[in-house]
Amino acid sequence: MVPPRKPRTTPSEIKASPVRLWAPWRSAYVASTRAPKDSGCIFCFDRLTARQKRQRLILHTNQHALVMLNRYPYTSAHLMVAPRRHVASPELLERDERAVIDELIIHCIKELRAAMRPSGFNVGANLGRSAGAGVADHMHWHVVPRWDGDSNYMTTISSVRVLSQSLEQCFDSLAPRFKAIDITLS
Ligand SMILES: [Zn+2]
Repeated sequence: MVPPRKPRTTPSEIKASPVRLWAPWRSAYVASTRAPKDSGCIFCFDRLTARQKRQRLILHTNQHALVMLNRYPYTSAHLMVAPRRHVASPELLERDERAVIDELIIHCIKELRAAMRPSGFNVGANLGRSAGAGVADHMHWHVVPRWDGDSNYMTTISSVRVLSQSLEQCFDSLAPRFKAIDITLS
């Protein structure tokens, strides 16, 4: 009888990762989506102070769209790009909105590459609850940086304080890269 093979650690698993990844707050998020909603849409707001933007993890806003750090990220620096208008699907967007969103997604990829040196990205949208959208009524694109072997570095951290600090630190490190974005519409 052949004995069961021992799991081997591959070189990519033991390589030191420059960025630590935490995901346990996904479970809080999944639980929160079942709770009755008493707050408004996270992507809809009027004027906000710089402090309020930081509290809400909003890195950039303009007339057509916004960039926000995901409070319940899959990986560190998981960004979302959304239109300012509360619409559920991309075919409801105007041409200018689509153009600005496209530029912002490219900007996110470029700046995350420079800031965090990911080796890959997941970029896309979940349209509708059945497709996994957490906020289904207000569509948004996810820009998720990935690192080789990142799923092997998931660490359990249950402290809410640690979580909020890591998000704020991430926000502060990225904020200067989203201050002035030059988008010219043709
Ligand atoms: Zn909305």
